[in-house]
This record gives sequence, C-alpha cells and structure tokens, in this order.
Amino acid sequence: MVKCPACDHDVRTPFFLNLDGWTHLVCPHCKVRLEMKPPRSFVLGPLMAPLFVLARQGRVFEVIAFIYMFATISLLLLESACPKVRLRKLAPIKPDIQLNINHPSK
Ligand SMILES: [Zn+2]
Repeated sequence: MVKCPACDHDVRTPFFLNLDGWTHLVCPHCKVRLEMKPPRSFVLGPLMAPLFVLARQGRVFEVIAFIYMFATISLLLLESACPKVRLRKLAPIKPDIQLNINHPSK
C-alpha cells in the first residue's frame, strides 16, 4: 500500500514485476493515473563492472567489490518491496513525427 500523492488515500500497488498492472495503475479515490518512481539503486548498477575489473588487482578491491555488490542488491530488493508512486504525466496527443503519405514529394 502507498499513499496517493494527489488525495493522500491508500492505493493498493501491484507486484513489483507486474508491469502491466503498473501501467494501468489508477487511484481508486480520485482516479488520477500513477506510475512507479524508478528505484534510485539502479544508478549504482553500472559501477559494478569496473569494480570487478579492479577486484583482480588485489584482495582489498575484491572485498570492496563484493560489499558493493551486496549493498546494491539489498537496496534494490528493499526499494522494490516498498515502491514509491508519483503522478503520471499525460502522454502527448500530437505525434512528434507526422507521416506525409497523402502528399508525396514527387
Ligand atoms: Zn488519489
């Protein structure tokens, strides 16, 4: 359960991996469309690869790389267990690129 940012009522959230449930998430009280805030721990992910390259240089780096990996994974699990929601911005109605099928340039 999370608090709706618009009306402050409780909203039942779908399972973290249920992407279809998340795309159609609507507050049952004020009908506002909600979406999941991307977990901040995803930012730590790309740093893992260079750390493991560094880990070959010595035991100290090896320990640091493993601690970093476990910290990142546990943070990800923690954030997916209690996701945060924000208001979904309305999708633009006009497409950015307009097809010019009816008026060929020739
Ligand atoms: Zn609401």
